[in-house]
Amino acid sequence: MFSVNDTGFYGKFGGAYVPEMLHASVEELRRCYLDISQSDDFQTEFRQLLRDFAGRPTPLFRANSLSEKYQAEIYLKREDLCHTGAHKINNTIGQILLAKRLGKKRIIAETGAGQHGVATATVCALLQLKCVVYMGAIDVKRQAPNVARMKMLGAEVRTAESGSKTLKDATNEAIRDWIANPSDTYYLIGSVVGPHPYPDMVTRFQSVISEEIKKQLLEKTGSENPTAVIACVGGGSNAAGAFYEYLNEKEVRLVAVEAAGKGVDSGESAATTYLGKPGIIHGSMTLLMQDEFGQITEPHSISAGLDYPGIGPLHAHLFDSGRAEFLSVTDDESMKAGLDLCRLEGIIPAIESAHALAALEKLKFKKDDVVVVNLSGRGDKDLQTYIDYFSI
Ligand SMILES: *Cc1c(COP(=O)(O)O)cnc(C)c1O
Repeated sequence: MFSVNDTGFYGKFGGAYVPEMLHASVEELRRCYLDISQSDDFQTEFRQLLRDFAGRPTPLFRANSLSEKYQAEIYLKREDLCHTGAHKINNTIGQILLAKRLGKKRIIAETGAGQHGVATATVCALLQLKCVVYMGAIDVKRQAPNVARMKMLGAEVRTAESGSKTLKDATNEAIRDWIANPSDTYYLIGSVVGPHPYPDMVTRFQSVISEEIKKQLLEKTGSENPTAVIACVGGGSNAAGAFYEYLNEKEVRLVAVEAAGKGVDSGESAATTYLGKPGIIHGSMTLLMQDEFGQITEPHSISAGLDYPGIGPLHAHLFDSGRAEFLSVTDDESMKAGLDLCRLEGIIPAIESAHALAALEKLKFKKDDVVVVNLSGRGDKDLQTYIDYFSI
C-alpha cells in the first residue's frame, strides 16, 4: 500500500517527468535497479561497506535523561555515528555500487549544504570513480568547509552561476551534464526525490536504518515495534529509511518533522505539507511550496539540510493518506532542542536532527511508550550556527 507501483507512483504522487533527452537514462535505471541491488553479489558488497566503511550497524541508544524529562522510553538511532557524520553515506554507497555495475565511470551530483556532495566524493574516492559536484555560487561561499572537504577527497566542484545561484541552479547544471554525457555518467541523487526510480531506490538503500532498529529494539525491549518513530524531513531520506520497515505496521506511529523556519505563516518557512500544493519538482509529482503561478517559492530554515521547497513523493503520500503525522518545528525550537541534547545526553546533534528532537515537546506519550528518534547526523558542521545563535 505504501510501496511504489510499476509506473513510479505512491498514490497520486511520484512518476518520472523528465525531458525527452533523459528518458533513455532514467529508463535504463528503472529497468535494472531492482535486479542489480537485490542480487547476492551486490548485497554482499553493500553490506560489507556499510559495516566496514560506514560503521554500521549504528547503535540504538536509550537516552536516560531524555526519557526522564519526557516520561517515556526514548531511544536515539545514532546515524550521527556514520562515517561522514550522517545517514547520507548509506545511499551514496548503494548508488555508487550500482553505477559501477552499470559500467559508469563518472559520478555527478548536486549539493546545497554540501553534505551530499561530501558523502558522494567520499565514496567516489573509495571506489576510484571520477566525481563532479555542482553547487550554486552562493552555497560555495556559505559552505566553504564542505567545498574544501570535497576537494580534499578528489572531487571537482563546479560552481553554478545562473539564477539564484543555489541548489536548484546546481540541479539544472547537473541535469545538463547528464544529458550531454548519457553513456559514461551516473547522476547520484541525495534524497528520496527525483524521477522514478530514485525515490524508491534511495528509500531501499536507507531502509537499513529501520531494519537495524527492529533487531535492536527486539533485543532491548522484547518487541520489534516501538510506539512511535520520529524523523526530520528535508527531502525525506532519513525519515523514509527509519519508517520503511514500519510502513505496514499500523500500530506504529510515524512522525515526520518539517522545518517551520521562523513560523509557518511568516513567509520564511520550509514546512512543505503545510504550505505546499501538488506540483512537479525535480522530475516527480509531489507537494511543493509554490506561488499562485506555480513558481517555486524560496524556502527558509536555519538548517541547511531542511531548506528545500518540496518533499519526496512517498512522504506526500504518507501525508495525504494520513499514515504519517506531520508537524513542524521552528528555528528557535530546534536550536533549543539541540542544546538540550548536548546538555542532557552528551551528544551535539545536527540542526536537522534537532528538529526531530524538538517534536518530543509537542507529542503526548505514556510512561512505557517506546519512542525512537532518528538522530540523522552530528552537529560538527553546524558549530558556527550554534555559536552565533547562542553567542557561545
Ligand atoms: C541532508 C540531511 C538531512 C535531510 O535530508 P533527508 O533526505 O530529509 O534525510 C537530515 N539530517 C542530516 C544530518 C542531513 O545531513
